[in-house]
Amino acid sequence: MYRGRFAPSPTGPLHLGSLVAALGSWLRARAAGGVWLVRMEDLDPPREVPGAAADILATLAAFGLESDEPVLHQSRREGTYREAFERLHRAGHVYPCWCSRRDLEPWAGRHPAACPAPADPSRPPAWRLRVPDADIAFTDALYGAQHQNLRRAVGDFVIRRVEGWFAYQLAVVVDDAAQGISEVVRGADLLDSTPRQIHLQRLLGLPTPQYLHLPLVRDRQGRKLSKQDRARPVDRRDPLPALRAALTFLGVRVRRGAGGIDALLAEGVRRFDPARLAADPPPAALGPQSEPCTIGPRRLGNHGRAS
Ligand code: GLU
Repeated sequence: MYRGRFAPSPTGPLHLGSLVAALGSWLRARAAGGVWLVRMEDLDPPREVPGAAADILATLAAFGLESDEPVLHQSRREGTYREAFERLHRAGHVYPCWCSRRDLEPWAGRHPAACPAPADPSRPPAWRLRVPDADIAFTDALYGAQHQNLRRAVGDFVIRRVEGWFAYQLAVVVDDAAQGISEVVRGADLLDSTPRQIHLQRLLGLPTPQYLHLPLVRDRQGRKLSKQDRARPVDRRDPLPALRAALTFLGVRVRRGAGGIDALLAEGVRRFDPARLAADPPPAALGPQSEPCTIGPRRLGNHGRAS
């Protein structure tokens, strides 16, 4: 049974980019006769905006997108992440790290196999996962064959932060498995996180879902829309224009006056075909630390998410 999900972080209201990810994942699940879930990724309190989680859920509902099962809140699942973390720790895959950003400058932000900074028992460490000098390969349903050498492109990455929170990369892997997700549909900014997630799945003995990354909606300057940059929110009191725009972005042409929310969604389910989407190049702005790996025309790098 197909199980898909949309996993927003409550860092601001939904904008067209996040609506595209929500809608794309919903259309895939509905077309497959499967289940669609919403997971609130509220694991990063400093970045969260009070009220944003409720606002996102109300906005999704106004667009006819409602989770088939109760919404999972990552903030309530610390014990589950801790268990996964302990397993990795016991197996010798993680180590404490006191390095600052400055300590990592000579390595262009990528953490080397041994910490350049000494241990400092007076303050808490971050916990990093050791990564192999080997390629992780996968096939994305839109971007095709991908591979990335974690050691060269990313380095040992943080799975538990100095503040004690578990990092996105660990939580997402634990939750995709716990929710039985069969295909992850999300924005192409996460294409380069996928090898880290597959590596974690293997270490934890969890299945690897299929992946479909969707091209990013960009603003006029070519930047990805982002909640933190206050991209214009979609208007839930007048959802049709944004729904039409999101469908059009996903390659589903809709005529003006083509009906209400339900009719447009039904049209989307019939006509959405990722094979017809143009995969724009994955984001080029991967930060100075990126040393992209190339496969065919496509590149992967490290955009530094929670690493
Ligand atoms: N919470 C992440 C975000 O809003 C998405 C995570 C995912 O879909 O894997 O960017």
